[in-house]
Amino acid sequence: MNNWRFKLMQFMQGRYGVDPFGKFLLYTGFVLYIFSGFLRLRVAYYIGVIFLIYAFFRILSKNHSKRFKENLKFESIKAKFSKPKADGGRGSRKKWQEAQARQAQNQQSAAADDTQFYNYYRCRNCQQIVRVPKGQGTVKITCPKCGNSFTDRT
Ligand SMILES: [Zn+2]
Repeated sequence: MNNWRFKLMQFMQGRYGVDPFGKFLLYTGFVLYIFSGFLRLRVAYYIGVIFLIYAFFRILSKNHSKRFKENLKFESIKAKFSKPKADGGRGSRKKWQEAQARQAQNQQSAAADDTQFYNYYRCRNCQQIVRVPKGQGTVKITCPKCGNSFTDRT
C-alpha cells in the first residue's frame, strides 16, 4: 500500500522543489528559529519563521521561472559576499574564482534569455536547466540531458 506515496507524488507534480536559495532559507530559518529560543530574540524568531514559510512556499510553487530568477539573484549576491580578503586567505582565492565563474555563467544565461521570450525549468531528475519558448500553452518538456519529460505551461 503505497497510496500516500502516490498521492504525495501527485501533489508534488510540477512543483519547484528545493534549490540553493531554498536550502539557504531553510537552514537560516531553522537556525534562527532554534537560537531565538535561547537568546530570547523575538526579531530572530519572526525572521526565522518568515524564512521557513517562504522556503516552503518556494518548494510548493508552480511558477518555476520566477523561482529560478530568485535563485539567480541569490547566487549573484552570494558571489559578491564570497570575495577574498586582500591578503587572499587559504583556499578562498579558488572559491572566489569558482563563484565568479558561476556568476558569469548565470549572467550569461540571464543575458541570453530573455525571460521575455523564454521560461526556464529545472529538470527534477538531473537539475539541468531547460529553456522553453513562452506562449505555447501547456507543453511536454523533455530534458536534453537525461530525457526526463514533464508538462508545464509556457
Ligand atoms: Zn534531466
